[in-house]
Formats: sequence, structure tokens, C-alpha cells
Amino acid sequence: MATESTKKIIVLGATGSIGKGACEVIAAHPDRFSLVAASAHSDAEGLSRVAREFGLSRVCLSGAAAPLDGFDFSAAGSAGLERLVRETEADIVLNAVAGAAGLFPSAWALDSGKDLALANKETMVAAGELVKDLAKKRGRRILPVDSEHSAVFQLINQIGADKVDEIILTASGGPFRDWPLDRFAGISLADALRHPNWSMGKKITVDSASMANKGLEVLEALELFPLGLGAIKVLIHRESKVHSLVRSRDGSLYAQLSEPDMRLPIQNALSWPGQLESPYGRLDLAGLSLSFEEPDTRRFPLLALAYEVGKRGGAYPVAYNAANEVAVGAFMAERLPFVGISEVVARTLESDFAARPESFDAVAEADARARRVASGILERR
Ligand code: NDP
Ligand code: MG
Repeated sequence: MATESTKKIIVLGATGSIGKGACEVIAAHPDRFSLVAASAHSDAEGLSRVAREFGLSRVCLSGAAAPLDGFDFSAAGSAGLERLVRETEADIVLNAVAGAAGLFPSAWALDSGKDLALANKETMVAAGELVKDLAKKRGRRILPVDSEHSAVFQLINQIGADKVDEIILTASGGPFRDWPLDRFAGISLADALRHPNWSMGKKITVDSASMANKGLEVLEALELFPLGLGAIKVLIHRESKVHSLVRSRDGSLYAQLSEPDMRLPIQNALSWPGQLESPYGRLDLAGLSLSFEEPDTRRFPLLALAYEVGKRGGAYPVAYNAANEVAVGAFMAERLPFVGISEVVARTLESDFAARPESFDAVAEADARARRVASGILERR
């Protein structure tokens, strides 16, 4: 039952892996959360299903030319999505849109005075400074949903930001962590989609196999937390039980542990600054062994490139993400081998992206330019 303390939530990307998890979390706490609007890109049936389940009156299909029938507010296209976000009265927007397309929705959410629960890591990678400035100006919060960043966020808030001097992001290492390097040339799409520990959308699953996902997460952490690149480490942790760690100034390590289940960080972002009971991810420690190892950057060149891009700054992070999206798209269409993904990204970064984008439009321009460069490289291959 909705009460005064019920948070009104908009879920963007409601038909995706994170979006569905968010809907489950919201449905599990009808006294605390109320879904007031939702979007999908082209999955009309999926969006209608969500709308029926929650009795929604406001929806948007951002990739369609015409809106769905039968709602108080129903929109289509990117302009429709902007209206949905800006004109719906809500406390918080959960942005689970896939890829760089999530950037403007993040800006619209903050600009119209809503908190932002952020699964869309591309927002922080491409425009961290701009969204942080906007959040500050509007007095709203950015609450990370990405499991590693959720873990670090919770830990930093418990320990105190002034005491933290290192962040360790954990990574499963994906399906190829033990493959001999000489087999990489023959990696198929099916191989790359076989993630050992997490069930996620396809693009992020491929990124986990290449560790571009961890590269993006390093850049995301650089924007979310007040520490330099040198204080952000990555360790391969095969069991995916420790979702990240922070080291305090006295050298102690603090970690967040749970079974891998995105519904836990989703719930934590939605309930912040409170915390609700959760059936998700409860871990039994007895009998558990945990391992940690340095990632091999020959195996995962996209991880090393992310650090390089973080060091260079400017629009290089925008270009890294955009080129990777183009290359992963080509890999998923079976037009590029797996090892070609890092080649296309590295060669795109040979172009000049040093100028720092000072506006969201400038970010979008740098993104479009990087896509053109990457597509050109793909065509000439
Ligand atoms: P999915 O591909 O499963 O879902 C993407 C959602 O976004 C769908 O609802 C889709 O609609 C919608 N969408 C796709 N393209 C556009 C577009 N151009 N404009 C607006 N909406 C669009 O992705 P995930 O749920 O896996 O990932 C979403 C985000 O969360 C990504 O940024 C990812 O990096 C991040 N994330 C995901 C995790 C996971 O466990 N899956 C973990 C941590 C972060 P439709 O169904 O109609 O196509
Ligand atoms: Mg993650």
C-alpha cells in the first residue's frame, strides 16, 4: 500500500536485465516503492507487460515512431522519453538503459529534480563531471547500481570518505580467464556469452569477457569516488562473492560480500539512505574459499587501455566507450573476431580526443565522431 514514505520510481530500460530486476524489487516492497512510469526501446510487448503488472498510466517506447495505445501518458522516440522523465512526478529515476544512449536520460532525471539510481555506467564514463555538477546544482544524488560501485559506495559511507585511500574493484575474469592465448583468435560469440557467474544483457556479457566492462568500471569509479586513478585497483576474483573492497588509511581492508544478485544493489540504491530487509544474495560463509589475482593485461588489453584513457582524460573515455560499442556490435553481428574488438578501440584512440567536452551536446558530438572513426577502421579491416 502506498504511503507518505513510498518512493515514486521511474524505471528506464524496464525490459532489460537490470530493469526486470528493478521491477521485482519494487514489487517486493509495495509499501515503500511505487513504480510510476517505465520505458523500453522497442520491446512493446515487454513494456505492456510491465504496465499491466503495475497498473502504470505513463510509458514510453523510445525507439518507436508511434506510442502505445491506452495510457494517460504514452510517448515515443527520444523526445518522448525526455518528456516522460521530466514531466512525471517522481523521487527517483532508475536508469537501466543500455549504452551511451543512457547519457541524456541521466541528465534529464537530475535536471528535473530527481535522484538518479544509476546502472548505466556509460553516463559516468562519458560525462561524469557534467552529471555531478548537475546533481549538485539541483541538490540531487547519484546512487550507483553497478554492484562493485554499490559495494564501494556502501563501504565508504560506513567508514568515512576521509579514511579511504584505495578501492579494489573485483572482476570475475569472465569465460576466458584461463583460455590459452593462442585460442583467442577462434573465440565465438557463443563462447563470449557463456559468463561463469552472472546473467546479464548480451553487450555487457561480451564486455565482461574482454574486461572492457571492468575498464568502464574503473572510469566510472574515477568519477563516482574522490580518489585518483592510482588508487583504483582491479583484482580477478573468480567466485564473485566479494563485490569490491576499500582499504582505509591504516591498511585495513573492508569488503562487501553476497551471492551475485543484482537485485541487492538495485534495492540498496532505491532505498538509500535507508536500508530494507532483503532476500537477495544472502551468503553462507562456511566452506567458502576466496581467491584473488592480478589480471593479465595481455589477455585483457581493454583493461589496460581504460587506465590509459583515464590518464589522458578529455574525451578519450567517451571515445573508448563509443568505439567499444561499435566493435562489440560488429562482433555480435559476427563481422569482427573477438580479438578485433580491442584493436578497433586502440586504433580509434589514436585519433585526437584531447578536448574536454564542456556540455552534454559536446559529449554526444565526441561520441558520434568516435563511432565514425571506429566504423571507418572496421570497414578498412
Ligand atoms: P539489456 O540489454 O538487458 O537492457 C537494456 C534496456 O535498455 C532495455 O530495456 C532496452 O529496451 C533499453 N534500451 C536499449 N537501447 C536503448 C536506447 N537506445 N534508448 C533507450 N533505451 C534503450 O541491458 P542490461 O540491463 O544488461 O544493462 C543496462 C545497463 O546497466 C548498462 O549500462 C549496463 O552496463 C548496466 N549494468 C548491467 C548489469 C547487469 O547485470 N545486467 C550490471 C551492472 C551494470 P528494449 O528491451 O526495448 O530493447
Ligand atoms: Mg559491475
